[in-house]
Amino acid sequence: MAEETTTSTTAAPEASGESRPRPTTPTGAGRPQGASGARPGARRPFAPRRKVCRFCADHIPFVDFKQVPVLRTFTTERGKILSSRITGTCAKHQRQLGQAIKRARFLALLPFTAS
Ligand SMILES: [Zn+2]
Repeated sequence: MAEETTTSTTAAPEASGESRPRPTTPTGAGRPQGASGARPGARRPFAPRRKVCRFCADHIPFVDFKQVPVLRTFTTERGKILSSRITGTCAKHQRQLGQAIKRARFLALLPFTAS
């Protein structure tokens, strides 16, 4: 076997000439940060969890503006109302939630905006 010596001495004959196919991202900078940042063509690494309305799950008939800790979970740090697309709140409860947060703001239970 004369070929055995040649293959053992040269480590990787094809590695020098080979151009490596790089995975190029078409649009941009890393992965999208938001939960709703779904690009067409880009598959999510995990299956989207099924969102369920918290008020429906807890059988709350009406969103109370006095439940400030609950309302606070549906606002951002800046005091904005989170959309139902993010929280998964159903349309009925999202309307009540918006009204409840606005009432709580008026009574200074919640901030209109964070300073
Ligand atoms: Zn609901």
